[in-house]
Amino acid sequence: AVTVIGSINMDTTLRLTKMPKPGETLHTSDIFHSGGGKGANQAVAAKRSGANTAFIGAVGDDNEGATLLDLLAKEQIDISGISTIADTATGQAMIMVDDAGENSILIHAGANNAFHEAEVQQQKALIENSDFLIAQFESSLDATLAAFTLAKKAGKKTILNPAPALETIPTELLAQTDVIIPNETETEIITGIEVTDEASLFQAATALHQLGIETVIITLGSKGAFYHTATQHGIVPAFKVKAVDTTAAGDTFIGALSSQLNPDFSNLPEAIRYGNLASSVAVQSYGAQPSIPRRTDLTFE
Ligand code: ADP
Repeated sequence: AVTVIGSINMDTTLRLTKMPKPGETLHTSDIFHSGGGKGANQAVAAKRSGANTAFIGAVGDDNEGATLLDLLAKEQIDISGISTIADTATGQAMIMVDDAGENSILIHAGANNAFHEAEVQQQKALIENSDFLIAQFESSLDATLAAFTLAKKAGKKTILNPAPALETIPTELLAQTDVIIPNETETEIITGIEVTDEASLFQAATALHQLGIETVIITLGSKGAFYHTATQHGIVPAFKVKAVDTTAAGDTFIGALSSQLNPDFSNLPEAIRYGNLASSVAVQSYGAQPSIPRRTDLTFE
């Protein structure tokens, strides 16, 4: 079982030919609303890949919040850990995707920054009943830290997706992180090492290792993912596909990987390969949660 703590947003995806410049007004060719937020996306990915999944987070007392709760409930994700915060807006993201598949995103965090340690303490049972706890940096840090502390006390494994990247991650959080999953940009912000080849990946992973994290997985977009543990390292190549919208590629990878990973990490390369497969499907369609595949939709060779 997997518990995700983090952000939940109402996404508005706007498709356009090219990104607007400051002062410019452009027309969009399509608009649609869907569930998003790194935390909620990762929970949806884990659940659609077959894991029992719970989500800890917060929405505002508005229509968007009610719609998002409904969406997760329909996925059969345990939403008992989601707080509804009075007089606060639900998190929202405006995602512009151009014809080249590039995206630009504006986020109003709203309720995602309005839940804290006190709310997390009430969700102790959810954390204790899961094998993995997954967090990102799109919601309040004190809530994440409290959740990791509960997970480690209960002997559970913690997975940190340091996105969006913080240059300095609190040492207290690092000390309680079993697995870190940054992308290339986040890796460079955290370690100061630009990852361009296997040697620099090894160097960056070693730096993350020295921060006290046993298992490092660096996602490499269309190149796949690099992993580094005390005993093994290597690149698991991506699947060759035509990407149209990479929103939630990383989220799909993380949720899907966690759904397959053994709590003792004995099948790490296989779980990464599954994460690559699920995210290669996600990049072939638009939106965050609408693009996340189900395990039954995936074909393995
Ligand atoms: P993020 O979305 O967080 O920036 P990445 O771009 O590294 O993360 O993508 C995460 C994972 O999604 C990759 O490890 C890979 O498996 C898959 N992926 C991303 N882009 C592509 C692509 N163009 N083709 C195939 N797989 C992709």
